[in-house]
Order: sequence, then C-alpha cells, then structure tokens
Amino acid sequence: MLAVSKTRTSDEVRAAHAAGLRAFGENYVQEGLDKIAALADLRTDLEWHLIGPLQSNKTRVVAEAFDWVHSVDRLRTAERLSAQRPPDLPPLQVCLQVNISGEDSKSGVPPAELPALARAVAALPRLRLRGLMAIPAPAEGLEAQRRPHRALRELLERLRADGLALDTLSMGMSDDLEAAVLEGATLVRIGTAIFGSRPSAATRP
Ligand SMILES: *Cc1c(COP(=O)(O)O)cnc(C)c1O
Repeated sequence: MLAVSKTRTSDEVRAAHAAGLRAFGENYVQEGLDKIAALADLRTDLEWHLIGPLQSNKTRVVAEAFDWVHSVDRLRTAERLSAQRPPDLPPLQVCLQVNISGEDSKSGVPPAELPALARAVAALPRLRLRGLMAIPAPAEGLEAQRRPHRALRELLERLRADGLALDTLSMGMSDDLEAAVLEGATLVRIGTAIFGSRPSAATRP
C-alpha cells in the first residue's frame, strides 16, 4: 500500500509512519521535496514515490531525492532520470503511466505506443522498470471499475510475455481499490481512505 500524502503535512506523514506505513506518494515535486527534507531523520525507513506529472526541468531533483517515479510516459523524461540518478544511489524504480481510458487530457502513454517505450526504458542503466501505472476515468459500480484495471493487467502480461521482467501494477485509489485488487494490483495508491478527505480541489490529479 502506498499512502498518498499530497496536501498532508510532514507531521501527518510522521504519524502515519509511526502507525506502520512506510511508502508515501506525492503528486507535486516541490511539496514532496519539502517533506523528504523535513523527514530526513526517517529517510532510510521511508520510500518516497512521485505519482504526479513530471516536467523535464524537474527530473534532476527527482532523480536525486525520490525512490520511485510512477508517472514516466515519454522516453526523454526516462533518459534524463537515468542520466541524473546519482551513482551512489540504487537505480530509480519506475512505472510507465498508461492512458488506459483514452482521455485526451490525461497524461500517460497510449497503449499502442507502450511496447516500444517499455523496451527503451528497460534498457536505461540507472532505472529499473518495475511495471505500469494508470489513473482510470471515474466509473460507478464494480464491473465498470474492473474493466480499465483488467486492461492494464493485460498490457503488463503482454510485456512480460515479450520478456520484460516486470512485477508492479500501480492501480487503485480510495474509490476503486477493490476493483483494482480483484484485477491484480500490487500497489494501491490510497490517500483519502487513510488521511480523510483533502481540503480544496486537489482530489483528482
Ligand atoms: C491523489 C491521488 C491518489 C489518491 O487518491 P485518493 O482518492 O485520495 O485515494 C492516487 N493516485 C494519484 C495519481 C493521485 O493523484
């Protein structure tokens, strides 16, 4: 379980750590960096995941500070992250974000372009490609919610059949967590259901 701590204070993250959570997801690079710095005393006991969009001018600080990036959706970003990952750190763990619901405005690689991107990213020396991530369009009812998660799992299975050693399906949020788990999620990204509802308009990325 990835605890999504966007909009939450570093003290709230500290309390969540004391309650047993170890992996935290942030959407905004600067907000994440601030919390990573404020919680430096816990650094070796925490995993920090960037789950929000990543602009190419921010790749260096992300490569230096985070453990995972879930939102890689183009080769150029991946190449920069690999080149900028400090040699004394383990490889940066990455997921490719897939535009699974085909929404125009959404980030994510279109499924048709996924195999080529996955092969290229898997070859980068300082990244370890772990799997796929998606943020499906909101849907009502278990069956409708399962469909996009199933599609993401099938994409992962196809990449594995092509020889890529992938083990991560980052899918499922507070509202569609059961559907995602039924379709094989290995990492659910949960904010509201852990910390309560967020103030303001930051509920959807
Ligand atoms: C905010 C966010 C989540 C968590 O959403 P909740 O509905 O609060 O569980 C998960 N993934 C991403 C990419 C997010 O931006």
